[in-house]
Amino acid sequence: MTPDVRPLIAGNWKMNGTRDALSEIKAMADGILHSDLVDHVDALICPPSTLLYVATAICTDSPLMVGAQDCHQKQSGSHTGDISAEMIADCFGTHVILGHSERRTDHGESDHLVRLKVEAAHEAGLTAIVCVGETANQRDAYETLDVLMRQLMGSIPESATADNTVVAYEPLWAIGTGLTPTTGDIGVAHAFMRDELKRRLGREEGGAMRLLYGGSVKPENALALMSVDNVDGALIGGASLKASEFLAIYSVY
Ligand code: PGA
Repeated sequence: MTPDVRPLIAGNWKMNGTRDALSEIKAMADGILHSDLVDHVDALICPPSTLLYVATAICTDSPLMVGAQDCHQKQSGSHTGDISAEMIADCFGTHVILGHSERRTDHGESDHLVRLKVEAAHEAGLTAIVCVGETANQRDAYETLDVLMRQLMGSIPESATADNTVVAYEPLWAIGTGLTPTTGDIGVAHAFMRDELKRRLGREEGGAMRLLYGGSVKPENALALMSVDNVDGALIGGASLKASEFLAIYSVY
């Protein structure tokens, strides 16, 4: 946690979920609406883009926000299969996850491309959730902080503010594996990112930017992970597919 920073619990459904999964989003929307924490903790769900418009309609009366998992760096044009930040905003999406390691690996996305996408997201009025994190080999070679520095500097534009940008630290070896770094290691990574962001964006913006942890967050470990200094919420993959688990993690605050 960071004093005076409002936590964000965000779910990333990845390439999971057809229309029959919308009942989970409805249950999440109701759960957040009636939670005692609703005035203190933000919640976001990022379904696949096929469900985006109908998901935002379901969440109209709930503070549960809806976002997308990627966008193109341009707002329109001849880019078959892509969706733009403007299109996400047009569906009433408020956030977009960018630079997730699965995009960086599966689609060869570089820091530079991620930065262009972040700028496109800002242009469309979206909040970008920028993912960074090291591989197991990089961790074993003690390169974690170098990787974080490179990815933060490369992917985050200088126009980033605490309102339009969130950073998610997701070690690749922790994603979907059931493994997590120690709370000590997460604390070191987040303190390092906090200092770098302050240096780059100024004390105020860098100090207030939300820093999420992601990688095997579950109801059982959420309290320990969310209690680490400078951890201002979670980016949740597998455990966000079920409303019961998502709401259990949200409730640790
Ligand atoms: P996981 O995924 O929670 O299933 O480990 C996290 C992510 O990739 O954002």
